[in-house]
Amino acid sequence: MTDRLAADLRADLHCHSVVSDGVMQPEALAARAKANGVELWALTDHDEVAGQHRAMAAARAEGLDYLTGTEISVTFAGVTVHIVGLGFDADDAGLAAGLRATRGGREERAKEMSAELAKVGIRDAFEGALQYVGNPELISRTHFARHLVETGVCADTPEVFRRFLVEGKPGFVPHRWAKLGDAVGWIRDAGGIAVVAHPARYKFTPTEEYALFTEFIGHGGRGVEVVTGSHSSAEAQRYAETATEFDLLASCGSDFHAPEESRLDLRSLPRLPGHLTPVWSALEPRIHRA
Ligand code: AMP
Ligand code: MN
Ligand code: MN
Ligand code: MN
Repeated sequence: MTDRLAADLRADLHCHSVVSDGVMQPEALAARAKANGVELWALTDHDEVAGQHRAMAAARAEGLDYLTGTEISVTFAGVTVHIVGLGFDADDAGLAAGLRATRGGREERAKEMSAELAKVGIRDAFEGALQYVGNPELISRTHFARHLVETGVCADTPEVFRRFLVEGKPGFVPHRWAKLGDAVGWIRDAGGIAVVAHPARYKFTPTEEYALFTEFIGHGGRGVEVVTGSHSSAEAQRYAETATEFDLLASCGSDFHAPEESRLDLRSLPRLPGHLTPVWSALEPRIHRA
């Protein structure tokens, strides 16, 4: 293993641009990553790869090594699970078709969310959320959250996700995303590695979580996010053990969306525990060198 692939490489392999629910352009994110000291970067927009060529070109211009990325919404055991894909061919037709199908239905879901919010007196939330959307196919709960904060319904995004848009609260609309096996297959067939994103977020029972990892690996999934903006240090430690138990590659990323909103900025995350095998050590030929 060369130095550049060591576990202490400053890698940030999870963030979002205006192509999905982030607020910055891919070029601005590349500049921010470089300025913050990131050494290996991936832009992982939800269910979309339209920003990949821009991110790759911007990373090269900044002198930043780059891995392609996306974050696919999956429904597993009735729960939304996110699968990050890294190091795939950005022009793969199968992946593009799968992501297109996954994006379909977001607009209708958003209109239903708006109708649910109207029942508790919050009117025209769809139109409000649309103001924050960079890519109309990717209208998400994040855009509704920005609208609810901007109009003073909530003080900040965490309050929105406590009071609205989640199961049992106004504005929640159940949705069927991609199947786990399909998402992992699209990533693999495009030459990439599939990674379970922020596993602590799902609040699975141990049995459900065991089923998730077992099925994920059965479909050819190979990695788990250990260090992420969504994990406490205790959770990172717990999923470091999961990585060892299931022999998974370890990934790390801030999940940066917006300067005022995200818990972690690009690069500002703790290092991966040194005994784990970092996902980038298995992706060396897929890294776009600056
Ligand atoms: P969607 O894909 O439309 O269901 O929206 C999911 C997005 O909402 C995630 O990618 C996050 O950006 C955001 N989100 C979900 N839960 C929370 C939370 N508790 N706090 C802040 N943002 C959240
Ligand atoms: Mn998001
Ligand atoms: Mn996610
Ligand atoms: Mn994310």
